Amino acid sequence: MLTLMEDTIFAKIIRREISADIVYEDDDTLAFLDAHPNNPGHTLVIPKIYSRNILSISEKSLAVLMQTVRKLAPVVVRAVNADGINIIINNESAAGQLVFHTHVHLIPRFVDDGYKGWPSKPYKDGEAQAVAQKIRAAI
Ligand code: AMP
Repeated sequence: MLTLMEDTIFAKIIRREISADIVYEDDDTLAFLDAHPNNPGHTLVIPKIYSRNILSISEKSLAVLMQTVRKLAPVVVRAVNADGINIIINNESAAGQLVFHTHVHLIPRFVDDGYKGWPSKPYKDGEAQAVAQKIRAAI
């Protein structure tokens, strides 16, 4: 039985309580079309075992999730005749996460789809070294 925290809309899709355009399923993962696609074929891949996001997912659950991502990414590209694909995971509200059940976005890209890259925020003098040191120290 899922607890309330785990009972997201994606848990309901796993349990078939709400419908989705499911494209793939195995024992550990499920993939379905995003209801608000950025491009045709925009697919979400989720683990069946609950985790909130990549910041707390187990190594095993992440491994099986990525196996499915690896399997489906070239399939989705081929199916919609895309020129490339973005593979994105949003983690926490600040990063755009709306549904708090780990999911990987497979977003097919086309040379003329109009999406621009992320803006760059250059480091000030010495800042990159300080930030790199903070990350090394936090490992
Ligand atoms: P995120 O912002 O990374 O949490 O993305 C959540 C995604 O879930 C959004 O792109 C939504 O369009 C998508 N979504 C929400 N509800 C559904 C649903 N019932 N079926 C398919 N996709 C959904």
